[in-house]
Amino acid sequence: MSKLIRGGRVLDPASGLDDLHDVFIEGDKISGVGPPGSLQATSDASVEVIEAAGLWVVPGFIDLHTHLREPGEEYKETILTGSQAAAAGGFTAICCMPNTKPVNDNSAVTDFILRRAAEADLVRVFPVGAISKGQQGEVLAEYGELKEAGVVAVSDDGQAVTNSQLMRRALEYAQVFDLPVISHAEDRTLAGDGVMNEGVVSTRLGLREIPSVAEDIMVFRDCSLATLTGGRLHIAHLSSAGAVELVRQFKARGVQVTAEATPHHFTLTDEALENFDTNLKVNPPIRSPVDLAAIQQGLADGTIDAIATDHAPHSTIEKDVEFDYAAFGMIGLETALPLTLRLIDQGILGPLEAIGKLTSNPARIIGVDLGRLAPGCPADVTLIDPKRTFTVDVNRFRSKSRNSPFHGWDLKGKAVIVLRDGKVIFSDENESA
Ligand SMILES: [Zn+2]
Repeated sequence: MSKLIRGGRVLDPASGLDDLHDVFIEGDKISGVGPPGSLQATSDASVEVIEAAGLWVVPGFIDLHTHLREPGEEYKETILTGSQAAAAGGFTAICCMPNTKPVNDNSAVTDFILRRAAEADLVRVFPVGAISKGQQGEVLAEYGELKEAGVVAVSDDGQAVTNSQLMRRALEYAQVFDLPVISHAEDRTLAGDGVMNEGVVSTRLGLREIPSVAEDIMVFRDCSLATLTGGRLHIAHLSSAGAVELVRQFKARGVQVTAEATPHHFTLTDEALENFDTNLKVNPPIRSPVDLAAIQQGLADGTIDAIATDHAPHSTIEKDVEFDYAAFGMIGLETALPLTLRLIDQGILGPLEAIGKLTSNPARIIGVDLGRLAPGCPADVTLIDPKRTFTVDVNRFRSKSRNSPFHGWDLKGKAVIVLRDGKVIFSDENESA
């Protein structure tokens, strides 16, 4: 079966293409990208035409940072519901963090995740293995076994690696298997039992504080260890101005460090917490206007390579409580695209740059041949209606959880058709309005 995506604005950050083009798909691969009308199938009868006039045609998005909660907390999210949420958000691949129950620190858990993902048969699921056994920060996990089972990176995300010697060994050991080490950069002793960013707003609200230096110190440590070891370091959810500047400096020295920022960190400031919405309780915390500007600048100048959701589902049991007791995290797969498109409207990113941070850049960081539209590539393609406006309604999310602070926001830009391996995994036409 062939598909012709006709007359859309094709944006392919890897090649720099931004033009009205057709995209031809044969089987599970892209077979051609060319000017309108230039691609003809041998027999018209077998070609399904997807009209894309007025739409953007882009590589399927790749999320470097998703929490799927299965195994262990299926009441929050499953691999199936997380995959459905991802597809509805325009993603065709997601990297799932290892802080499940049990932790993904061995091939049995990785195998389980991949089996469940294959059953769902929606987005590609790339498991991330743990840095340390049980994410206890004491003994390294078996990276060879994990890599062979299919992990694309290692991380103790959710937990900081407090032991610097262990982090050094992780960066050395992961190199043997060509795996990036993803750092959740947080000095636990400084973060303490804080629940929000330290600043004027926390003083006014009387909530316990997490200083931005808790992040800066660990970013400095991990970049220094990457310098020493030559390992590949990726900093998760960059949120502070100081951390952005550190990554910028280490990159300028040629150190192998990459970084991601979340839509909530480039959209919100801690002033939003005035309403005590526990959906705004995230780790790292939403920070000051100065930090927000630094994140946006870091995205603009390339210091921050990727946009990642840190999709962290929690049920009302964890969130419908006092701020101090609420769990950290918000969901993000179904709002990442329109929040990213706001950066274009704000003049911070051009369209190709914005799409690149969701596609070709994350693909490069985890070393997979995805995130581009070229003949021979897997046909992972997302069609976006950039003008579609909608009001965020968490009750219509595919995710099993509802913990989004963007409920009620009017946003613009939506994935309308999503293909993985040439197969439609999401279509807005199937929506019951
Ligand atoms: Zn984290």
